[in-house]
Amino acid sequence: MTSAAGPGEPLLIATTNRGKAREIAAALAMQAVRFVALDDAGIEAVCPETEKTLAANARAKAEFYSRRSGLLTLAEDSGLEIKVLGGEPGVRSARFSGPKATDAKNVSKVLRLLASVPRSGRRARFVCAMALARNGRIVAAARGVVRGTIAVGPKGTAGFGYDPIFYYHPRGKTFAELSPEEKNAVSHRGRALAAMKVRLRRFLSK
Ligand code: IMP
Repeated sequence: MTSAAGPGEPLLIATTNRGKAREIAAALAMQAVRFVALDDAGIEAVCPETEKTLAANARAKAEFYSRRSGLLTLAEDSGLEIKVLGGEPGVRSARFSGPKATDAKNVSKVLRLLASVPRSGRRARFVCAMALARNGRIVAAARGVVRGTIAVGPKGTAGFGYDPIFYYHPRGKTFAELSPEEKNAVSHRGRALAAMKVRLRRFLSK
């Protein structure tokens, strides 16, 4: 994450996920804001993610951290929805393989569940819900979606989470085989960020 020093309105990026923080800082870079991490803001409290939808979780996190920090705060909740699993893991994406989940264990669980599912039935999408809040009040929201299929095995080393098994047809590659710029240009988070960037600019110019 970029340091808090320098000009511009402080913007708290309310995530402890380094992969997400990297992508957000890269896509949202603009002179009018300087990024602040939860650590930089001295916030140790963790917002419980108990809502049933990604959008509600994103809003809850933005409200929670903006109230605690007093800063303009951007939060997001995202997940992988697999059609044949009825939309799972969805809001449970980070903890899909249990309380001690890791990216590798989550990926293995998905591959195991889909082992007998042919390519035509492996449709999935990443969804990202984003919310911007100040003093506990939502001032903007955005959503991004990208469709793909679950590959039969992991490929690539870039990105994080389920990227190695998310096959993106227009590029003929998994998300973990794309550069950060290529992923941001088409990903659920990149799309939500593009919309959020416009709303953030408008909000800051008021
Ligand atoms: P949360 O939003 O912190 O609850 O976590 C969302 C989880 O969804 C992450 O830990 C990943 O497992 C998964 N996820 C969200 N976005 C991405 C992505 O861009 N690539 C791969 N996995 C993702």
